[in-house]
Amino acid sequence: MSRQVSGSVHTEVYNQPIADASLIACLHCDLLQRLPEIAPGGSARCPRCNKELWRHREDSLNRTFALTLAAAVLYLIANSVPMLGLTIVGRDASTTVIGGAQHLWDNGQRLVGVLVLFTAVIAPALQIGLMLAIVLGAMRERAPKWVGAVLRHHPITRIWSMIEVMMVGVLVALVKIADYATIIPGIALFVLWVLVFILAGMQASFDSREVWEKLEWAQDSARDDHAGEFMAEEPL
Ligand SMILES: [Zn+2]
Repeated sequence: MSRQVSGSVHTEVYNQPIADASLIACLHCDLLQRLPEIAPGGSARCPRCNKELWRHREDSLNRTFALTLAAAVLYLIANSVPMLGLTIVGRDASTTVIGGAQHLWDNGQRLVGVLVLFTAVIAPALQIGLMLAIVLGAMRERAPKWVGAVLRHHPITRIWSMIEVMMVGVLVALVKIADYATIIPGIALFVLWVLVFILAGMQASFDSREVWEKLEWAQDSARDDHAGEFMAEEPL
């Protein structure tokens, strides 16, 4: 469907959704098929390419909410206590994750410092914060329209969140300097390892399809807003 605003060359095209919500196309081979009723814990596979179409996760919203809250608490601890301490020829030094990025910046490794700050501090914060917003929004009886916008952008934060890569880098560095300095592992080092697994669990328990289904009414009103038509929100 194409709509053109008079006097403007800007054209927006929105497809009309089909009434039958159980019809889906396989993401891998495009085969159009009907999704059956799936019990919690079960999954549906494409009959042509055998890729998983959807896994009905058990109690997805509540589990994701619990894991996201745990991740938020661990994140705050991990970024407020020292990650590593070193003792070299009688001198002690310790640093947090943000402190490590600051040291890199001060020592001329500005690009690496910014990358560490972005991938190990900012992106995980966004990943956790946006997930919390999505889950809290989806838990409401009527999921607000902004949940859809956040849900669309959330995968970007997941891609850039790389705490596990930083942890592997830290381990490699520790092995290399173990002969020259005494290393004192900080609480944050252990908390970050737990956080890596909690974040993986948070993503694994999240079912975006369930949230999209709660947003169906919002999709309709968003489409009408784009068309420049006023539509009063009517309770379902
Ligand atoms: Zn397929």
